[in-house]
Amino acid sequence: MTKPLWAPWRLEYIAQADELEGCVFCAESKHQVPAAECLRVRDGSAAIALLNKYPYSSGHLMIAPRRHVGSLAELTDEEALEIHRLAVASVDVLTRLYGPGGFNLGWNLGRVAGAGIADHVHLHVVPRWGGDTNFMPVLADVKVLPEHLLETRDRLRENWSASD
Ligand SMILES: [Zn+2]
Repeated sequence: MTKPLWAPWRLEYIAQADELEGCVFCAESKHQVPAAECLRVRDGSAAIALLNKYPYSSGHLMIAPRRHVGSLAELTDEEALEIHRLAVASVDVLTRLYGPGGFNLGWNLGRVAGAGIADHVHLHVVPRWGGDTNFMPVLADVKVLPEHLLETRDRLRENWSASD
């Protein structure tokens, strides 16, 4: 038996499995995450900003379009602009609240590039401190992380620039 090269039913299955397991960006975007666990810090009309549940560093945010699209090319001008504005506001609020020494901003496109959710593009905003770990999860903090995250979420929401 030859192995089928083109199997659209399988793609459908994968798409469905993805839906069932849930896309965190879509769930947050549609307000389907219970308030107690929701990590969204800002709602835009075309994009949202949320905390990463598995951060590289404290205050690690992700900005995603509301639409489930997998490539940069699919972003509309409106989405691209709002993502940029949310990134600027993220850097601003994180700077005021936590005063990191710098930031890394970037897109991981495709799983080989490290994208955890490869089919819903998102921009990472990662605050950096002098001498911090270089893009390594802070494993020691895993147990207390949920509380930290929700606390950080509330602080970011309260202090988000009103002009945005
Ligand atoms: Zn999605």
